[in-house]
Amino acid sequence: MRFFVIGFGQAGGKILDMFIENEKMRGSNTKIRWLAVNTARTDLIGLKHVPMKDRILIGQTVVKGHGVGTDSKLGAKIAQDEIETILNTIDERGTYDLDAFLIVAGLGGGTGSGGAPVLAKHLKEMYSEPVYALGVLPAPEEGKLYSLNAARSMVSLLKYVDNLILFDNGAWKFEGMSLRESFAKINEEIVRRIALLARAGEPIEEGLVGEMVVDSSEVINTLRGGGISSIGYATSLAESEKKRFSLFRKKESLETIEDEKAMKISSLVRRATLGRLTLPCNVNSAERALILVAGPPEHLDRKGLEKAKVWLEEQIAGVEVRAGDYPTRRTKYVAALVLLANVTDAPRVKELQQLALEAKEGIEFTEKKRAEKTLQLFDEDIEPLV
Ligand code: GDP
Repeated sequence: MRFFVIGFGQAGGKILDMFIENEKMRGSNTKIRWLAVNTARTDLIGLKHVPMKDRILIGQTVVKGHGVGTDSKLGAKIAQDEIETILNTIDERGTYDLDAFLIVAGLGGGTGSGGAPVLAKHLKEMYSEPVYALGVLPAPEEGKLYSLNAARSMVSLLKYVDNLILFDNGAWKFEGMSLRESFAKINEEIVRRIALLARAGEPIEEGLVGEMVVDSSEVINTLRGGGISSIGYATSLAESEKKRFSLFRKKESLETIEDEKAMKISSLVRRATLGRLTLPCNVNSAERALILVAGPPEHLDRKGLEKAKVWLEEQIAGVEVRAGDYPTRRTKYVAALVLLANVTDAPRVKELQQLALEAKEGIEFTEKKRAEKTLQLFDEDIEPLV
């Protein structure tokens, strides 16, 4: 899956930075392209792996490189004013063999929250490739303004993107850690999932053969329709060949061992589906799903994958479940990713909408009251001009 990843704002930039680090460590030869966009100079300077030439600072004349704080409307305005610069920079990096765009942003802040929908709108107008966003939702403890920003950004993104994959910070805060302290670990979780999704359609390592190959068009077909998606993920340590075929097990038939392999794959997929999702949601409300399993080739199993597919078909609202694997020797783990596309029942999204509504009413109420009070300071005999 050849993504053009755009990290917008601080969270977006940091996630992109870790994604690039991960790709470098893997020695990946995928032709993924990227760009980090921000209004805050220090955030861009803080990145370690995004090459300097792939970082752009916008809004310099307005905010002088200091960022927009939590003013997502200003974030959107700056992105709109400088959209040509962003689009030209994307175009210069080449887009002819891309599969999709992926805009990554924290939806509760200012730059990414406001800028991501503006960029999505223009990418959609200019290119025929699908445009996806990976949006990070604020945790409830971050307050109502963050919720209002996230709700506004979500509503705007949903107008333009082909899919909005959500990651809820609130559901991922790590035990005994503050949200801020959890960011690095949360970002690792996000990157693991995007990296595996990016494997779909990627050339397989030399000498390896996939049991059931998933290509990028299957990811695109799963994500079509413009809804909200959530991702499940689980891993298990692959047992060494020695242990699996030890003398102790010699008496067991090859069939039993094969059955066990199939069972392991299908239970890993169940664990991914029923465990912590990037956006907690009702699995039954998903329209489509995609299963991707990666790991050492001797641990992948077509029968197991087919079993998992049948099981998942029964769990989701729709009937379309795609499944495939990606053999790799670069890991000791077997990982299963379950992409639940177009979910309609996600309590956090509902809650955010409600919180945002209250915040909006609160802001409008106080603004109105303040204006009335200020007017009362003036003598009523003074006639207004208009
Ligand atoms: P921006 O720079 O104005 O776009 O603002 P941020 O990207 O900092 O967005 C603020 C939101 O993103 C808040 O809800 C934060 O909790 C969240 N956030 C900030 N940094 C990170 C990060 O590194 N990882 C994650 N997962 N969330 C982050």
